[in-house]
Amino acid sequence: MVHTHIVLISAPFQGVINSVIQFAKNLKRMGVKVTILSSVSAQNRMAKASSSTPDGLAFVSFSDGYDNGLELSDNLEHFRSENKRRGSKALSELIKASSEEGCPVTGVVYAMLLPWVAEVAREFKLPSAPLWIQSATIFTLKFAMTLRVLLNYPGWERSLVTIFPLSCFLLITFSVGLQGFKEQLDALNAEVNPKILVNTFDALESKALRAIGKQYLIAIGPLVPSAFLDGKDPSDNAFGGDLLQKSRDYVEWLDSKPQSSVVYISFGSFFNLQLQEMEEIARGLLESNRPFLWVLRVLADGEKQEDKLSCKEKLEKQGLIVSWCSQVEVLSHPSVGCFVTHCGWNSTLESLVLGIPVVCLPQFTDQPANAKLLEDEFKTGVRVTKNDEGIVEGDEIKRCIELVMGDGEIGEEIKKNAKKWKYLAKEAVKEGGSSYKNLKTFVDEIEDGF
Ligand code: UDP
Repeated sequence: MVHTHIVLISAPFQGVINSVIQFAKNLKRMGVKVTILSSVSAQNRMAKASSSTPDGLAFVSFSDGYDNGLELSDNLEHFRSENKRRGSKALSELIKASSEEGCPVTGVVYAMLLPWVAEVAREFKLPSAPLWIQSATIFTLKFAMTLRVLLNYPGWERSLVTIFPLSCFLLITFSVGLQGFKEQLDALNAEVNPKILVNTFDALESKALRAIGKQYLIAIGPLVPSAFLDGKDPSDNAFGGDLLQKSRDYVEWLDSKPQSSVVYISFGSFFNLQLQEMEEIARGLLESNRPFLWVLRVLADGEKQEDKLSCKEKLEKQGLIVSWCSQVEVLSHPSVGCFVTHCGWNSTLESLVLGIPVVCLPQFTDQPANAKLLEDEFKTGVRVTKNDEGIVEGDEIKRCIELVMGDGEIGEEIKKNAKKWKYLAKEAVKEGGSSYKNLKTFVDEIEDGF
């Protein structure tokens, strides 16, 4: 029998890398051989950050022309076309080389924003499936909007309303980037049996998963290191693909704090706050009078963001500012009681898996919708209200932190819900759980060639 060998194609963004690496580890645990194809820039940054990549996963890298890293200000269209041109060649070579070495590739899984992969897989008659690293809700909404807005296919907006009552703001967010999403759908349209692997779990987003059909949207998440889920592999306690070097000093600091007392603040791997908003957050933290751990990444020009803050000294007396940490390690620490988050989907799932109440401070892309899910559907947090200038004021930050960490009725309800999702996430990934079974079926189908 041919050994199952799946190639995973990643993109050089932290959120994608974390999901892809965790997915690879889960496949490996099911006996699948996995090779990860990613760009030189990601490999270089991981090596520089001294991330120890997980044992038993083979990495192959290709130059996509952005070897020194991709900045938000770079021309994304150019990146996409170069990534496609050079990535297609690298993937073809990898597939051929694997055959020659007697370990042929039997299937391909790719970050959905790289639709060119499906074409290459078809050339080699290999089954392929994209990995969607945002919520099933977002997928369903984008799907419906694409049909309605780009293809003028009526009717789907009704399902939008039943799945998710949308504000105008959210609708505008979704219409941005629809063309790119349509290209991703086109790649799937050419498949006989299209399947989309989604980083979520059945209990979390059952309505959204059902809206398009569970035969298409396959929930295989949450993709979070297994030590925090089924606990079977205590060594799997970090993603293993950090692009930035971790600060060293936060665990000891967390150890010194009382249980559930610390506010953890992070806005992910991309987004930087404006100075005025940072000042307001700092004011809210100081006035809340609680210990805090705040991730402020060093800017591309080497500047430390905290150096710009007028109250830096006061902040450093009350809390700790770090340039990067292992977020899952922090969220799993008993002293952490609240997560002030931008609501990236990985951060959203990590807050649920680790049962941590959230204060939502979303910015763009899927974040406003994730904040809505956290507040209205999962009910594990509150979303801040911005002032007329679009800024969150310090008083509002303080109010929200008190609400979720306090022992009032709302805080108690939020903590109860956070515990519920922590339990349900574990149930989903354990042997026989919904995500476990979905992944097992997918692997069996890859073996049969779909
Ligand atoms: N993360 C981390 N350390 C940090 C900040 C973030 O390990 O100091 C990880 C976090 O655990 C998550 C990822 O970076 O897995 C960020 O992904 P998310 O989708 O939340 O946000 P994005 O960076 O894509 O905006």
